[in-house]
Amino acid sequence: MVHVGIGYDVHQLVAGRKLILGGVDIPHTKGLDGHSDADALMHAICDALLGALGEPDIGHFFPNTDPRWRGVPSKTFLEEASRQVLQRSGKIVNVDATVIAQAPKIYPHIAAMKKCIADALGLREAQVGIKATTNELMGFIGREEGIAAMAVASVNLPE
Ligand code: MG
Repeated sequence: MVHVGIGYDVHQLVAGRKLILGGVDIPHTKGLDGHSDADALMHAICDALLGALGEPDIGHFFPNTDPRWRGVPSKTFLEEASRQVLQRSGKIVNVDATVIAQAPKIYPHIAAMKKCIADALGLREAQVGIKATTNELMGFIGREEGIAAMAVASVNLPE
């Protein structure tokens, strides 16, 4: 039976941090702030996968109070979500996500993001959808104070 999950994440943009999205190091004047590498895209996908399994969010598996997860690449979290699927004899059908960022331009990095995410989840790139939009200059995203991502995942699980 196919189960679906939804995920959303947002991190603040600050000076002095690398901007990592979908596992890709994107040159920019600011980066996302957080306990891990703050990869909002990977976090949203992770929550979508966990949601499809009926599990709680990523923070439950990797608490931001645990020094073990300080600065870790978020690929680790996706690999864990993938492991959770396998543990239930499940199979990821696809994941799809949208990054909402006013700047920088995300489009040139999408192919590399798809590859990173597909690798972490053991999927073909055709099973990973990544899109990007701006927030039309409105709100905190429009003011470049943060970047958000939303994602869905579908997972085939035995009944
Ligand atoms: Mg996060």
